[in-house]
Amino acid sequence: MFILSEDSQRTQGRDAQSSNIMAGKAVAEAVRTTLGPRGMDKMLVDSGGEVVITNDGATILNEMDIEHPAAQMLVEVADSQEEEVGDGTTTAAVIAGNLLAEAEDLIEQDVHATTIVEGYHEAAEIALEAIAEQVSQDAVDDDVLKQVAESSMTGKGTGGLTAESLAETVVEAIRHVEDDEGVHRDNVTVHTQIGASSNATELVPGIVIDEEAAHDAMPKEVEDASIAVLDVELGVRTGDIDAEYAIDSIDQLNQAIDAEESEVRGYAETLAESGADVVFTTDDVDERISSFLAKEGVLVFDNVGSSDARQIVSATGANRVGALEDLEESDFGAADRVRSQNYGDDDLAFVEGGAAAEAVTVFVRGGTEHVVDELERAIGDALDVVSTALDSGEVVPGAGATEIAVADKIRSAAAGIEGRKQLAVTSFADALDVVPRTLATNTGQDPIDTLVDLRAAHEGGERAGLITDGETVTIDDPFEYGVVDPADVKREAIQSATEAATMIVRIDDVIAAE
Ligand code: ADP
Ligand code: MG
Repeated sequence: MFILSEDSQRTQGRDAQSSNIMAGKAVAEAVRTTLGPRGMDKMLVDSGGEVVITNDGATILNEMDIEHPAAQMLVEVADSQEEEVGDGTTTAAVIAGNLLAEAEDLIEQDVHATTIVEGYHEAAEIALEAIAEQVSQDAVDDDVLKQVAESSMTGKGTGGLTAESLAETVVEAIRHVEDDEGVHRDNVTVHTQIGASSNATELVPGIVIDEEAAHDAMPKEVEDASIAVLDVELGVRTGDIDAEYAIDSIDQLNQAIDAEESEVRGYAETLAESGADVVFTTDDVDERISSFLAKEGVLVFDNVGSSDARQIVSATGANRVGALEDLEESDFGAADRVRSQNYGDDDLAFVEGGAAAEAVTVFVRGGTEHVVDELERAIGDALDVVSTALDSGEVVPGAGATEIAVADKIRSAAAGIEGRKQLAVTSFADALDVVPRTLATNTGQDPIDTLVDLRAAHEGGERAGLITDGETVTIDDPFEYGVVDPADVKREAIQSATEAATMIVRIDDVIAAE
């Protein structure tokens, strides 16, 4: 009896398992070479010829246009990692891929999928305990936060700028948006602008928006600004003239023009007299009005985008006003400084020291679009990890040291686990070795020798990571070199990788509609 349509495709049993596992492994393989401080970049070209050059795991996997459903689940691992903690996407994908590779071996040895799943879950629990033991006892101060930022950026296309000074900017930004309730990560935005070297990257104490002043003669900068945010067209509404005057003589035409002039003048005077010295409106501003306001020293931005208007409102405390006659002084927002600046083809508005919110912007400069795009991703990751580390107050050693310690604890615990599940638990530990092993491969070291040396150092009671420091690669305590990762990044990577791998292993039937 046929219950499926003729066109649907069905794969069952071992075939289904091995095809899914292979797809998952392939995804992990694709990002493996980008891991760590000596990770390489990938150039991704889409069907329209658009080019992205990146080292970021989540970005690579999303740009790759992956179709296989099981492989897609690994992409989701990277996405959820990015979403939850902002970093560790390559780590998570690579661990997931290796959990699948180990599962394949177990299946070959006739270990049942449900046993593998149970063993993996049990091992993941032990891993979380082991991570807790690795957490640094020292307080997470600015120095540690800078190390966290720097560790997340090494190996990224940080241009001519040393990761060190970028790390400082990142920590300053996060400290700026921290209060008694915690870190308000959303109050930090990253704005990119090409045309200068990445050394010119700076922290702006406010917001930066793509808006242009309505008139060239307007002041470029206003201090202690009273800011009006309007949804008002400042001009004569089209249609007014036709509606109100049937023009059949010169007199009447002059009358109409006079009426229009006085309407325009009325708007301009109302605004100038309101006391606002900076005006943002989401609608058009008549050329005559803007030139009048320019003479009055008012800085006006017209056709402001709706989301920009919302940002201005939240930064300055202004009330958005929909009709000029409703505008009152109490509607004004305030800022220490508003300035309009030209960058070649682009004009930007800076609203600094807004009265209502502690918004800051990392103003990223770089020579080309590709440079600033990759910098934006690296800085975004760094902002995320610093805020994660500051929120939880927990950091662990990087450079593979945490993975070595976690794998060791899992192996010791495996001895006490009965039956075939023990094999699965041990395999989980082997899968975690992929992080130090890959760091070794990517830095030109022998992965087996490295693993042996790292384990020996760990057994001798030391923190043991494979540290890249300039040109040298050594096995030592990562804390001594400032190679630190937030504990939550490691937790999330292990949890999401376990989830995806166990989900894929459990599937023994793939039914695909045409
Ligand atoms: P992910 O997408 O997983 O964050 P990365 O390419 O950012 O991948 O690499 C992160 C790994 O690199 C972490 O394990 C981190 O501890 C390690 N790492 C960072 N800096 C160094 C360093 N100087 N030496 C060795 N390992 C480092
Ligand atoms: Mg990273």
